[in-house]
Amino acid sequence: MRLDKYLADMNIGSRKEVKNYIKKGLVQVNDKQIKSDKFQVDPEIDKVIFDGQEIKYQEFFYYLLHKPAGVVSATKDNHDKTVMDLFSTSDYRDDLFPVGRLDKDTEGLLIISNDGAMSHRLLAPKSHVPKEYYAKVAGVMTDEDVKAFDEGITIDGGEDCMPAELKVVARDLDKNTSEIRLVLHEGKFHQVKRMVKAVGKEVTYLKRIKMGNLELDPNLDKGKYRDLNEQELEQLN
Ligand code: URA
Repeated sequence: MRLDKYLADMNIGSRKEVKNYIKKGLVQVNDKQIKSDKFQVDPEIDKVIFDGQEIKYQEFFYYLLHKPAGVVSATKDNHDKTVMDLFSTSDYRDDLFPVGRLDKDTEGLLIISNDGAMSHRLLAPKSHVPKEYYAKVAGVMTDEDVKAFDEGITIDGGEDCMPAELKVVARDLDKNTSEIRLVLHEGKFHQVKRMVKAVGKEVTYLKRIKMGNLELDPNLDKGKYRDLNEQELEQLN
């Protein structure tokens, strides 16, 4: 790989900027100053130093984001703040993207990565990776609803859903509200909201708490993100 690509990939600067840094003599490879941007480096073997600091090569980046309400799951948007706007300038890269979508008003677990193959594995309809949600509902979810969800309900008068595990974690008959946990094995547009609507109730708050084996970190505040750790990465693969 060319030295200027290596440094640009590692967010040291634009391709033009890093070419200038190389020309200025700010870059060493294996303890030798290199002034040619075309110089070939092997990311596995060579030690690259920029401005006195070793720059290790990393191809893929994986973050766990606690998405807050009010931001959209996109890389760019003309009207709304996106999940990428939550990233610091030092972590931001233009190849990062959200792995799947949460509605603008939905909170919770969202993976942000630049690994397209991993994203495809997790999201491909055939892979049926379970996703768990916590929701507050206007209306009382019943044992019949649990059974209907378990058998697979039809939403919007025509679209069949796969069986889904519904747990009613709280019911308030006076306030006519409930709290649920729901595990889905597919990802239709607005699916949780539409399933709850199909049984005559309404989601008033929604949060994703799990995707596959990956859980939302209780120590991660809304709007914050962190690297996935080794164990979490293994679980993704
Ligand atoms: N189901 C929904 O209705 N909304 C989401 O954001 C995710 C699942």
